[in-house]
Amino acid sequence: MNDALDFRGKTILITGGSRGIGRAIALELAARSANIAFTYHSRVEAARAVEQELQALGVEAQAYQADAADFEAAQSVVRQVRERFGALHGLVNNAGITRDKLLITMKEDDWDAVLNTNLKSVFNMSKAVVALLLKQKQGGSILNISSISGVIGMAGQTNYSAAKAGMIGFTKALAKEVASRGITVNALAPGLIETEMTEGLSAEYRAKLLETIPLGRFGTATEIARIATFLLSEDARYITGQVLCADGGLVM
Ligand code: NAD
Repeated sequence: MNDALDFRGKTILITGGSRGIGRAIALELAARSANIAFTYHSRVEAARAVEQELQALGVEAQAYQADAADFEAAQSVVRQVRERFGALHGLVNNAGITRDKLLITMKEDDWDAVLNTNLKSVFNMSKAVVALLLKQKQGGSILNISSISGVIGMAGQTNYSAAKAGMIGFTKALAKEVASRGITVNALAPGLIETEMTEGLSAEYRAKLLETIPLGRFGTATEIARIATFLLSEDARYITGQVLCADGGLVM
């Protein structure tokens, strides 16, 4: 039987793969035989450790240092991936940061850093990857890790909500541009997920957030990774331009 979740012979590029959701997606795809290229920002030891974890699963894996906000770095990573792996089949735009503050205290730098890392990064990497996918003429999949913050807006996150909503607009526009070439573009909008991004939340705020989640708990990076794997797989070839909220029912 043909297993649509078998990624043997395929290479997927993930931004921000050294920890959290990006690492979980890398491991989930590698467990299904995908070769993995991933970028990291500054934690070289963590990146090397993930590279080894992936290789231990029997796949090719390579980490590339690149600031997601840097346009030239993204073009260079995609060139290196093509040289190293021969071809590319999918991209996960995952790198992201938060700098939560009320608008009244938010600095220009908080705005620029969050918009550049979460949204300009998607332009940077997608532009290089789409050019390669078009040249390869075999279609492909792009998955943008947005957030429910971009769907409903969250107080204290005007910068992050704007960036994540921007990713959703980008997803729908690009999906229309490249559908005729067999390239799908979707967004996955997680709710509250247990990673380093949320571990600093105070107990009081965490309890308040839990009250808003019908399923009564935060999600795990592995749960998000399994959904991402489906959206990148052959089983999802007829899905494009969609935003899937994986949030325990929060947005419902
Ligand atoms: P995390 O902080 O554990 O991981 C973020 C990743 O992005 C790290 O690998 C980090 O190295 C990378 N990164 C940050 N700045 C970078 C830069 N300038 N260049 C390259 N890489 C950079 O957080 P996470 O929870 O794993 O977040 C992953 C994605 O999921 C982010 O886009 C985040 O906005 C999104 N998200 C997370 C949650 C959550 O509750 N954790 C909810 C919704 C969406």
